[in-house]
Amino acid sequence: MKVAIDGPAGSGKSTIAHELATQCGLMLLDTGAMYRSVTLACHEQGVDTSDAVAVGEVARRVQIAFGTAADGTQTVSLDGRDVTSQIRTPQVDKDVSAVSAIPEVRDAMVEQQRALAQDHDVVAEGRDIGTVVFPDAEVKVFLTADPAARAHRRALQRDIVDADEEQRILADLERRDRLDSTREVAPLRPAEGAVHIDSSSMTIEEEVAQIRGLIDEARGKKASSEPAAKQVETTEAPEVEARPAKVKKEKEPKEEDPNDFFYDTDMREYPLRHRALYLATMLVCGCISKLFWPWKLEDGEELWNADGGRMVIMNHVSMLDPVIIVISDWAHGRRMRPIYKSEFDKVKIANWFFARVGAIPVKRGTADLKAVRRAQRAMQRGEDILVFPEGTRIYSDDQEVTIHGGFALMAQLAKADVQPVAIVGARDGAPGGNKPLRPHRVFMRAGKAVSFDELGVKGRKKQAAAMEKTAMERVYALRDALRRDHPGKM
Ligand code: C5P
Repeated sequence: MKVAIDGPAGSGKSTIAHELATQCGLMLLDTGAMYRSVTLACHEQGVDTSDAVAVGEVARRVQIAFGTAADGTQTVSLDGRDVTSQIRTPQVDKDVSAVSAIPEVRDAMVEQQRALAQDHDVVAEGRDIGTVVFPDAEVKVFLTADPAARAHRRALQRDIVDADEEQRILADLERRDRLDSTREVAPLRPAEGAVHIDSSSMTIEEEVAQIRGLIDEARGKKASSEPAAKQVETTEAPEVEARPAKVKKEKEPKEEDPNDFFYDTDMREYPLRHRALYLATMLVCGCISKLFWPWKLEDGEELWNADGGRMVIMNHVSMLDPVIIVISDWAHGRRMRPIYKSEFDKVKIANWFFARVGAIPVKRGTADLKAVRRAQRAMQRGEDILVFPEGTRIYSDDQEVTIHGGFALMAQLAKADVQPVAIVGARDGAPGGNKPLRPHRVFMRAGKAVSFDELGVKGRKKQAAAMEKTAMERVYALRDALRRDHPGKM
């Protein structure tokens, strides 16, 4: 079985190929790393990369091998030396396309690639896998993404936070794409029969799931056309240097989480019965909450008059907070998805219900990129996202508070404004612990939204930090003003 993944720089080929290799027990062949290694060898040996003959000789001489790091990622060695990080520098980026356009270099690399892959089930990624290296590959994918998304990914990969630097990466990706697509030998183009996947707005899991579907289908076809004895042979683990040590045995495809649909679909497009459930929930919770905890969102126009797709942040004093802010948003024709800690999902029915009312779980303490992307896409669709940056309910003013800055990152990715809201009184009405619920008035107030432009800071990390600080200061200023205006409410 050969799986060929081609596509331009930064389209996510490496990540996807690595995932597929691990999940499906395939040998991973990162052919870009090989062209990069030749480029690095030229630099180290003082070979002029425009001298085709000399570069061709380097390509014939070098020994490239793959291994596995302790964390399961692939390592690359050049003549026995680990060069995993040295091959991913701007200097190598600059020259690699010129080097890889030299026919002698390509001949040498393609020969090595076929030798490495011989007799193995392989997922190979590059520019010419489906067209030249393995034209008979059972699965061929052409992976693309819009250039800005690709540059953004590359910047994140290299931990680059400066916006200007990201622009330079974008320019370099576009330059390389141009060179790679217009060269005479093995230009970058989709192979015949390749499945095109645009990953601009897909999660890694979605991309992997789609390609796994193609692999399973191809395996099914192969199994039904091969004699049984042959099949046993091909499932034996190959022993090669290039195979990641941590390859998992092939396992049954993971069952899809039925709730994914609700996290990833516009709430207005839920099936009718789920929209009816939502309506009923809003009406019942709306009536009960208004009756027992008469509540009001002051200056609500700050939120309601804005376009949909805001990041709403709020102080967190009771379990009423998410309920009433979501209801008040809904009552003004908007949809708000609360982000909640996935620990609540241990209760199956809670998980089922939360998904249907639009809530999105986040794994705390991890960079839960899936949740981040979901929130980003929801805001881009025009749904509001609700985050409690304090992370947990604050039962008293003496309690130590840690602000979690994830909201700023989500807003940044979605280019959304951050809407501060404060709440008082709910702690008195629903104090938590074993204390009983009691009727009480609750006041919320919406403040002026914070946009990234007004922060006057450059660089992604600095911007996010400034947003976290400014927006939370506004929340606390609103809360203090509410307490002044409604004395005695906590
Ligand atoms: O995939 P990656 O960005 O690491 O590839 C680096 C460069 O190697 C590409 O820009 C391209 O010029 C070259 N390459 C190639 N053929 C391949 C893989 C990579 O020409 N199969």
